[in-house]
Amino acid sequence: MTKILHRQIHQQYPVAAGGDGPYVIDREGQRYLDASGGAAVSCLGHSHARVIEAIKGQLDKLAYAHTSFFTSEPSEELAEHLTSRAPGELNHVYFVSGGSEANETALKLARQYFVEAGQPRRSNFIARRQSYHGNTLGALSVGGNPGRRAVYDPILMKNVTHIGPCYAYRGQRNDEDEAAYGRRMADELEEAILATGPETVAAFICEPVVGATLGAVPAVRGYLQRVREICDRYGVLLILDEVMCGMGRTGTLFACEQDGVVPDLLTCAKGLGAGYQPIGAVLLSRRIFDTIAGGSGAFQHGFTYIGHATACAASLAVQRTIEEDGLLANVKSQGEALQQALKARFGNNPHVGDIRGRGLFRGIELVADRGTKEPFDPTLKLNARIKKEAMARGLMCYPGGGTVDGWRGDHILLAPPYILEEAHREEIVEKLDAALSAALEQVT
Ligand code: PLP
Repeated sequence: MTKILHRQIHQQYPVAAGGDGPYVIDREGQRYLDASGGAAVSCLGHSHARVIEAIKGQLDKLAYAHTSFFTSEPSEELAEHLTSRAPGELNHVYFVSGGSEANETALKLARQYFVEAGQPRRSNFIARRQSYHGNTLGALSVGGNPGRRAVYDPILMKNVTHIGPCYAYRGQRNDEDEAAYGRRMADELEEAILATGPETVAAFICEPVVGATLGAVPAVRGYLQRVREICDRYGVLLILDEVMCGMGRTGTLFACEQDGVVPDLLTCAKGLGAGYQPIGAVLLSRRIFDTIAGGSGAFQHGFTYIGHATACAASLAVQRTIEEDGLLANVKSQGEALQQALKARFGNNPHVGDIRGRGLFRGIELVADRGTKEPFDPTLKLNARIKKEAMARGLMCYPGGGTVDGWRGDHILLAPPYILEEAHREEIVEKLDAALSAALEQVT
């Protein structure tokens, strides 16, 4: 019997023992095509020789040195790599160990910025329902996933207002086009700022493409630009959470590049280290950096493992591989081909409501009735059944259930590695089809 407290305590898990490109191999030798990169993490697949070499090389030199004593070559080089490619003036970086820590850090940077800028009343945050920003208490407070929040609600931050997501499949009315829908949803931000008191709002946080909670839902074009304008109008900072959708997942290094928007703070993690080491980062604007540097000169924050030398060396190798192997082009072309293949296979399925996403970040939403978009009864746990059936066939896909103002549904998230080839793509579609049919048979 395992001594590990797994999330699903009564579930039996195969023992992962090896990796081979896009495949994970268990102790019995069964191969699983990693079509979700775990949770959109393993963007280079498994056992990548160059990354392993970089980690070994760093370990031979120095595994770790505390950042209150030293900086390190890999962390400085990684900071240079990221900031020189980031849009706008995101020209400083803070390294942490994952996505939750990155968002905690971003919230604290926003708060400290306003304290140092002489606006100490700015202590409120605005976020969106149907978002996920992590499981630490600050990140969970701005998160909008009711399932994850429920138990902890009494101990979450009370200075957070949630507005609606930009989720066209569910939210767009028949009497409005996409642009009008985007304007209406962005205007919810302005209303929330005005209701909260503009001089008390520190930041708005959202995912440019919503991952775990909705299943690869990009905001409609124009939405984020209007959000940026509204933030600027009221002096509110914009935090974009690219923990899941960033680092090339949608076809550009930063997802927000496709929306033509530059945030004040950008968080990333998963694809940053591709799972080879735990690492996350916050990119921050010159304005925030200069204000704190020219004020107290110290960021009141820190974790033991920030700027971890081995994690940074792994991440640097991952990022250089993505660039030097031209993998973003593959993300774009394979992503388009995957979308076409999913549409061709599932587009007429009476229980597939929507197929969406960008790059190699795709979501399939399941419905009981396509016409009415009625979801399946949540107690049927359709998404978990699909995951189970897929695993039984050697395919990893990431299940999820969203909640929109009382509605709860099922989706499957696909986030295969950037090294995807045509044969892998075909295997994904075949196995997903079989898993979906088997799971639907159980609930219909
Ligand atoms: N933000 C987003 C958008 C995520 O998808 C996740 C994890 O799924 C997180 C934050 C939290 O990241 P971590 O699990 O590395 O703490």
